[in-house]
Amino acid sequence: MATTARLWSRLAAAQAHKISPRVVSSGQGAYLTIEGKDYLNFCSSHYLGFAEEPRLKRAAQDAIEKYGLGTGYRTLSGTHALHIELEKKIAEFKGTEAAVCFTSAYSANASAMQTLLGKEDVVVSDQLNHASIIDAVRVAGVKNKFAYAHSDMGDLEAKLAAASELQKKPKANGEHPLIMVVTDGVFSMDGDLANLPKIVELAKKYDALTMVDDAHGEGVLGKGGRGVVNHFGLEGEVDIEIGSLSKAFSVMGGFIAAKQPLVDHYLMNARQRLMSIALTIPDTAALIEAVDMLGQSEDKVQKLWDNVYYLRKGFTDLGFDIGHSETPIIPVMLGDEDYAKAFSAKLMREGVFASPIVFPMVARGKARVRVIVSASFSKEDCDLGLAAFKRVQAAM
Ligand SMILES: *Cc1c(COP(=O)(O)O)cnc(C)c1O
Repeated sequence: MATTARLWSRLAAAQAHKISPRVVSSGQGAYLTIEGKDYLNFCSSHYLGFAEEPRLKRAAQDAIEKYGLGTGYRTLSGTHALHIELEKKIAEFKGTEAAVCFTSAYSANASAMQTLLGKEDVVVSDQLNHASIIDAVRVAGVKNKFAYAHSDMGDLEAKLAAASELQKKPKANGEHPLIMVVTDGVFSMDGDLANLPKIVELAKKYDALTMVDDAHGEGVLGKGGRGVVNHFGLEGEVDIEIGSLSKAFSVMGGFIAAKQPLVDHYLMNARQRLMSIALTIPDTAALIEAVDMLGQSEDKVQKLWDNVYYLRKGFTDLGFDIGHSETPIIPVMLGDEDYAKAFSAKLMREGVFASPIVFPMVARGKARVRVIVSASFSKEDCDLGLAAFKRVQAAM
C-alpha cells in the first residue's frame, strides 16, 4: 500500500474509537445543560463564576458597540488601546513591572521559552509540569533537559548541580548556557502547590532563571487572587510568571508578567505574537473588567474558598480520600481506572458532571474523580453534589 493510503486506512480504522465530547448548550455557570438536561458543573476551571458574570458581559457588549470585534496583528495595526490597558492592569495585579498578552497560556509558555532559550541552554522541569510546558521546551529546541521528581527539592538540587556542570562549557557563540527552572504554581491533577520559596532559593544558588506557570493560581491564591507568587510573598523574585486568562478569568488568553526589559524582549521577538492574532475586542474588554473586579473586592475569592473548605470537609466526612490538595482542585481518589470511570458515569446519572482522571493523565492505580470548586456554587449546590457522591458510593 502507498504511504498516504496507509495513513488514510489507519485514520478510517481509528473512527471506531472516536470519542465525542459532550455538547453543552448553556453558559458555563454552576450548572451545564447537556442534551436538554442540567448537570452540576463540578469540573470546570471557572473558579470565580466569571463566565456568566453580568459585569464582564456588559463590558464585552459595550466594547463591541464602540470598537467592533477583531483587532489584528499586534506589530502591524492590531495593538488596540484596550490591549495596552489590559497589560498594564495585569502587571499591577501581579506586582510585576510589565506584562504581555497572548491568545492562550499555551502560546505564552511556548513564547516564554522559545524567545529566550536555544538548543544549548538548559531546562530543569518538575516531572508533573503541564503539557504546554513540555511542548514549550520542545519548541525552544532545548537539548539539555532535566526532569526532577515531583516537588522533590533534593532532586531539584541534584539536577541543578548537573545543569551547572553543563553551564561551564561555553556555547558556539562563546557565551555560557542559561539554566531555567520551570514549574507549575498549582499542579492540576492533585491541586498541590510548588515549593516556590525553595525553588527560588535553589535557582539563585545555581545562577538559574525561574519560570512559574500559574494558570490555576490566578484568581485563586494570594491576596485577592493575585496568584502563587503573592501567596508566598515572592513578588519580584520569580523571573517569568505565566498566567492563563481562560481559567479563573473565564475568557481566553494568556500572559507573561516580568521585569520591563524582559517583557520588551518578548514584545519585539515572540513569534507567537508576531505571527499570530491578538485578543479580540470583547475578550480584552471583559478581561479588563475581571481584573478590575478582583482589584475592587475580595468577595468572589472569599466565596470560592468558603466553598472549598465546605466541600473538603464534606468529602472527608463521607470517608473519601482527597489527597493532599491545597487549592480548589479536589481529587477524590478512587484508585482503579475502571472504578473511577464507572463512578463518574454514575455521578452523571445523578446530575453531577465530574470527569474521571485516569492513566496516562495520572499514574496507574491513582485514578480519581477530580472536583473543581467554583464561587458560583451556592451552599445548596455543594450539598447536592455531596449527596450525589454519597449515593454513588453506596451503590458501587
Ligand atoms: C490550562 C493550562 C494551560 C493552558 O492554558 P490556555 O490558556 O488554555 O492555553 C497552561 N498551563 C497550565 C498549568 C494549565 O493548567
